[in-house]
Amino acid sequence: MRILVLGSGAREHAIITALLREEPRHDIVAAPGNAGIAQDVPVVPLDPADPEQVTNYANLNGIELVVVGPEAPLVAGVADSLRTRGIPVFGPGQAAAALEGSKTFAKRIMDAAGVPTGRAERAGSLAEATTALDEFGAPYVVKADGLAAGKGVLVTSDRDAALVHATFWLQHGSVLIEEFLDGAEVSLFLLSDGHSVLPLSPAQDYKRLGDDDLGPNTGGMGAYSPLPWLDAEFGSEQAFVDEVIETIALPTVRQLAAEDTPFIGLLYCGLILTADGIRVIEFNARFGDPETQVVLPRLVTPLSGLLLAASTGGLGGLPRPVFTPDVCVTVVLASENYPDSPVTGRAVTGLDSASAVPGVTVAHAATSVVDDVLVSTGGRVLSVVAVGDDFTDARARAYEALTLITLEGAQYRTDIAARVVG
Ligand code: AMP
Repeated sequence: MRILVLGSGAREHAIITALLREEPRHDIVAAPGNAGIAQDVPVVPLDPADPEQVTNYANLNGIELVVVGPEAPLVAGVADSLRTRGIPVFGPGQAAAALEGSKTFAKRIMDAAGVPTGRAERAGSLAEATTALDEFGAPYVVKADGLAAGKGVLVTSDRDAALVHATFWLQHGSVLIEEFLDGAEVSLFLLSDGHSVLPLSPAQDYKRLGDDDLGPNTGGMGAYSPLPWLDAEFGSEQAFVDEVIETIALPTVRQLAAEDTPFIGLLYCGLILTADGIRVIEFNARFGDPETQVVLPRLVTPLSGLLLAASTGGLGGLPRPVFTPDVCVTVVLASENYPDSPVTGRAVTGLDSASAVPGVTVAHAATSVVDDVLVSTGGRVLSVVAVGDDFTDARARAYEALTLITLEGAQYRTDIAARVVG
């Protein structure tokens, strides 16, 4: 199949790796890709968020499926443009992508669909924000309403800090003040064709920069899948997934379809398991990063068939995707000073040795080749992915591989999946 993958991160690298593992003869192109992706497939210098450029390229090159990695192209209407031209695309149109792009929209859809989520107040001024913060009390949860690249949410017990965060984001639009939800977090990906959904395996990610969940929020510093502790709480992973489908995913997809904004693509449910039940903390409209890196390596069912079926309205009646009994861990290697002001342009070495560790693959997140040297180009540079029989095994492999990689000033967490060992 001729497939165009839009994006340039470790998520897109993991998607491409999964597609090539399924069928090495797939004709895959990435735009714009990165240095690691370019080792595996051709890359083209398209702006992935330019609907016309992408659609013209896909049209001229006989692309049979476009897979949209990041949110920006969705919000820019790339999927709408492709769909108008009859090109199958895995990713929602602009209107349905507002599920991620606008927290107010997401809340309205959840309310209308009866989906359990935290109570929230929208505030358009500091006075409104202050009232809402005092109404909910500490700990305070303040969220930017629009896309904020993972930096829009602050959870704090410090009222002044909550007000500073609200003040900052109010310059860019409104903010949401939400009730604090306490519990374990789970990311569940569901493929949607606008009507039916199929679940992938649950994962957990680590959003904070430092070990023990200390430090600032980031785009994600690591992840693991599956989540063995779900068995104790729900009886089985399947029971958990069934509940999410029935109470969250299907009602959401049906509500969007009823509003004539069908959701075709990846419905990412960011969930928190509170004492009162499962609550949605956020929806995303695309594969999550770094969870994708730990979900796809275990997928047995061919990914291209699933993505194409979702893109063409054909998920209904298909069996649920099958996963290996392996476990998977990913640890993100980030630049010095990430997330505030990452230092870039530094040499990255040792990837061949790291990839030679059994079960390990290295997904590139922000790399480029300059004068024949691999250099870092962003905050999260690599995602070291390790598959193993159990979490002790997978962790040992991932961390062994990390010791073989050098990047001056690099940071990574040492506790990814530590809590599920033993
Ligand atoms: P989000 O970008 O909405 O996923 O939020 C980032 C992180 O903030 C989440 O992964 C949670 O750890 C935390 N968070 C968001 N909303 C809440 C909430 N209502 N209660 C507690 N923590 C939250």
